[in-house]
Formats: sequence, C-alpha cells, structure tokens
Amino acid sequence: MSKSAVMKYSKRNVYDFNLIAISLRVFEYIVNEITWKLITKPLPTMVRLELTLAIIKPHAVKNPVALSYIRNEIKNKFIVVKTKRVSLDKETASNFYKEHMGKFFYNRLVTFMCSGSVDVHVLGGGGAVAGWRRALGPTAALRAQFLQPACLRALFGISDTRNVAHGSDSPASAEREIKFFFPEFSFYDWHHTDEVMFRKGPIIFNDYLFQHVRKL
Ligand code: ADP
Ligand code: MG
Repeated sequence: MSKSAVMKYSKRNVYDFNLIAISLRVFEYIVNEITWKLITKPLPTMVRLELTLAIIKPHAVKNPVALSYIRNEIKNKFIVVKTKRVSLDKETASNFYKEHMGKFFYNRLVTFMCSGSVDVHVLGGGGAVAGWRRALGPTAALRAQFLQPACLRALFGISDTRNVAHGSDSPASAEREIKFFFPEFSFYDWHHTDEVMFRKGPIIFNDYLFQHVRKL
C-alpha cells in the first residue's frame, strides 16, 4: 500500500472511531434521560411511592444559591413528604454516621455535620432512593465534576466531605434513617393510607412548609 493510501486509511479509521464514540455518547444520554424520567416521576396510580431520606449539608444550607437550586430540583422531581431544619449535636451526628466509625474521615465528617443547620427531607417517588442518589452524583465532588458535571455534588460540592447532601443507599437504610430523624413517622400509616394519598392526590406544594400536603 502506498504511503498516501495508508494515511487516507488511518484518517478514515479515526473518523469512524470518533463517529462511533459520539453515537455511543448520544445513545447513553438518551437511555439515561429515559431511565431518569421513569424512575423519578411518580406515575399516577401505577408505581408505588418509595421513600428516601435527603439531608442538605451545612455548607449548602448556608449558600442561598445552592439551596434554592437544590430545593427546585427536589420539588420538581419528588414528592416532599416531610421537611425539617435541625442543628445536629456531636452525639447525634456520630450516631447517624456510625457505620463509618474508624474511617479516616469520620471525625471530620461528624464535625462538619455539626457546623451549621441541616435540612432533612423525606422524599417520595417511583425509585426515589436511586433517583435522589442519581441527582446527587458520585460521593467525591471532583469525581462528580468529571463524571457527571450537571449533578448536585458537581455543581455545589467543595470537597469529599462537603459534598452537598446525603441520600439513603437502599430502601432498608431509608426506613432506618427516616425513623432516626422522624421517630413519630408511622410506616403503618404510610403504607395503608398516606402513600395512596400522595400518589393519587389531590395534593399541592406548600412553599412555607416545603412539603406536599393534601389539597382541601
Ligand atoms: P455517600 O454519602 O455517597 O453515601 P458514604 O456513605 O460512603 O457516601 O460516606 C458518607 C459521607 O462521608 C459522604 O457523603 C462524605 O461526606 C463523607 N466521605 C465519604 N468518603 C470520604 C472521603 N474519602 N474523604 C472525606 N469524606 C468522605
Ligand atoms: Mg452513604
């Protein structure tokens, strides 16, 4: 093969490779968008609502731009079942994160979580656990910026510890964590009456409470 033919051939190969890579990215984007819509939108009367616990961490609660962006994302994508703002003391934060006891970042994490108020939300939705974790993105902020630049941790995370918000990692953890922050929350009532009410409505969003409530 002549030199020019080889050049032409390898140029074409690079071009083909780029085209395949771009098509794969577009395909991945479409699949992600469809999955996201399916798992986060509570389809009326069909998908049972799953609950998850979200905690907006102190540095995000202190930042009005971050907080309003996060709140918009929450109220547009989930049903907000409960909300409260609390200041954690060392004992409560240590207890909540006890699974990480002994890890190098444990003390740093507990101190940070006590450094200001946190907003705690019980969120409902079809696949709410995965949906909220997807909205958050990867744990480490820099990794999030690289892998998922539009996720909350990429946008507002400032370190591995100050990574915007917490999200339960499974329905079982969600139940345990909801009980931790809302001991009065009745899962019996949720499964027997409230879930259907939140799923089928009529409900409206109360901005003052930052919660969905039954429409009278
Ligand atoms: P996630 O919040 O994504 O479920 P983990 O449960 O592993 O992550 O960790 C709990 C929290 O501990 C994280 O949200 C983060 O604030 C902090 N953390 C986790 N890994 C590190 C780390 N390598 N360095 C510093 N802080 C960390
Ligand atoms: Mg976790």
